[in-house]
Amino acid sequence: VELGPTVPQRLAKDVYISVKTTRKYHAQRLGDILDTWFLLAPENVYFFTDSTDSAIDQATGGHLIQTNCASTHSRQALNCKMNAELEHFLDSGRSWMCHFDDDNYVNVPQLIRMLGNYDPRRDWYLGRPSTRGPIDIVDPQGEPAKKVKFWFATGGAGFCLSKSLVTKMAPYVRDGKFVALGDKIRLPDDVTLGYLIEHLLDKRLIVVDKLHSHLESMRLVRLDQLHEQISLSAGSYNDQKKNVVAVPQLFTDAEDPQHFRSLHCFLFPKSRICAGRSPL
Ligand code: UDP
Ligand code: MN
Repeated sequence: VELGPTVPQRLAKDVYISVKTTRKYHAQRLGDILDTWFLLAPENVYFFTDSTDSAIDQATGGHLIQTNCASTHSRQALNCKMNAELEHFLDSGRSWMCHFDDDNYVNVPQLIRMLGNYDPRRDWYLGRPSTRGPIDIVDPQGEPAKKVKFWFATGGAGFCLSKSLVTKMAPYVRDGKFVALGDKIRLPDDVTLGYLIEHLLDKRLIVVDKLHSHLESMRLVRLDQLHEQISLSAGSYNDQKKNVVAVPQLFTDAEDPQHFRSLHCFLFPKSRICAGRSPL
């Protein structure tokens, strides 16, 4: 990773970045990542998918992981991938796990700089919630029924977990146990993670407001604050056709459907793909 002098270099190789994807998005979304932010940290990024794809496997240097999870948007399929991400991270021996969706743009140097403020030998759950405060559910494991209150980081904004924390989560993760937990509480993977960390392990979410999911409008991210942001997203927002950061467009919509390349050139103008480009 090209981090510059302000970033702890030794941290760079300790960060494990997992990206959840699926067969139909290999063509639609992965190219945008592979041309842009993947190149900031090719040793750190792993893609978790549901089908083999030799072209992507080669382009990622063997970092495409076929999970055997279903290729659907079902809770089970998504929990299955999160389970795989957590288990692979545990096996990696690295200090930090950060999860993103395949419609996220990640400013990896900023991500690593942020992690430098925390000690991975302690328990950290860093993310951006999309509810104002903790949510209440009737505890499916409570006997007699009682309410539990917990907060969770939105998966689509990205979140990071320290090695110490994931090690404590392992009994609820190993051998497919995260899927079983998700089946029990019947909630999406990111909510299940909040239940596990905040309720079962009694650790608090730390809010990182520089992570952004497409539950927000990307147009509201100010350009003079763009360099500070850690993640951005390109998914749809309020049925708006394109939810993209308002950077000058250097590529046509056909070349750069999510405007990740234009964003990348705004942040890292010396990148190869930016050479000779000027605003359309
Ligand atoms: N995804 C998946 N299987 C599917 C559909 C989506 O693994 O059948 C992944 C997708 O690659 C992305 C995440 O789940 O990383 C969220 O999907 P998407 O952005 O399409 O929907 P959202 O939930 O954000 O509206
Ligand atoms: Mn999305």
